[in-house]
Amino acid sequence: MTSKEVLKSMSPYKPGKQIEDVKKEYGLSRIVKLASNENPFGFSKKVKEEMSEWMSNLEIYPDGYSTELRMALAKKLDVEPDQLVFGAGSDEVIEIICNSYLYPGTNTIMATPTFPQYKHNAVIEGAEIVEVPLVNGYHDVKTMVAKINKQTKIIWLCSPNNPTGCHINQEEFDYVMSHCPSDILVVFDEAYYEYVDADDYPDTIKAIGQYENLIVLRTFSKAYGLAGLRVGYGVANEAITRALNVTRGPFNTTSLSQKAALIALQDETFLQETFKKNQENKQAFLSFLDNLGLSYDDSQTNFVFVHLPTTGDEAFEYLLSKGFIVRSGEALGRSKGIRITIGKKEDMEELQSHIREFI
Ligand code: PMP
Repeated sequence: MTSKEVLKSMSPYKPGKQIEDVKKEYGLSRIVKLASNENPFGFSKKVKEEMSEWMSNLEIYPDGYSTELRMALAKKLDVEPDQLVFGAGSDEVIEIICNSYLYPGTNTIMATPTFPQYKHNAVIEGAEIVEVPLVNGYHDVKTMVAKINKQTKIIWLCSPNNPTGCHINQEEFDYVMSHCPSDILVVFDEAYYEYVDADDYPDTIKAIGQYENLIVLRTFSKAYGLAGLRVGYGVANEAITRALNVTRGPFNTTSLSQKAALIALQDETFLQETFKKNQENKQAFLSFLDNLGLSYDDSQTNFVFVHLPTTGDEAFEYLLSKGFIVRSGEALGRSKGIRITIGKKEDMEELQSHIREFI
């Protein structure tokens, strides 16, 4: 099948349950969405304060180079401005990578389950997908590396991994980077980087200086709380970002999203508070699960994959009827469990009472 023909056999992305639909369906007035790992504490107040000022000049195209945001981010990460590529969310950066590297006859290696957009975009490009099952929620990096052959163009590492929350440690990262030929792109997706609290976590941005085939992806959608504005980015050596900047659309991030991301980037306090509250609420939730005797994957993120004796769909439906939207494991390629975004303290307490009833 050519890459164009394959589109006919694929389904467009269907978002999960929407808050308004659930309200109507179940006759509920309040819904808590804990399904997409958004920030339950919102976003930097400074973004809101300055937003009205930016509503002028919307008739003008955005700065296609995202100059201000690029300069600030390059400074923060201690990289050259041209080592960055921006997208409408890291979703778009993933799409641009696939579009630039994959074509029929090539293959790409990823874990399963992992973030589904790697596979989705690779299939569109007509590439063969090589999936390596996780082991207890963690990437099996040795098997992934062993799968490399002459047709391999990209290896995807999702750290921490969605949907399990497990990270890739320094040793595993070093193993992949030292065994992977330098003409194969290693994509290290760190969408949840700001939540990580692990001593053995690799300094991937620094490693870019050492490895010419590494690209690190991050986003303003998660801890920064700007999922609605769509800004994500990749950091790599210029030979990589140059090609990706050729592939991307000329104005692929909006003026508003660039400005919001810039302000959010400078509000360290908001980020620290988000981290702290997430840690506290996650720890309380994990203690609750321990007391209930439910197991879960190790999470370095703002979500937890909970193992259940029943199918994830059953738990999903039950919690939905109580006004809580979570993500069923079935939908994520992992049976018997649900993925729950860590929410506000009071919402987590209410959720716990429903989980207790369900079990
Ligand atoms: N990577 C991972 C691992 C994710 O979980 C997500 C969002 N669910 C993304 C990338 C895409 O995020 P965004 O496009 O909002 O930056």
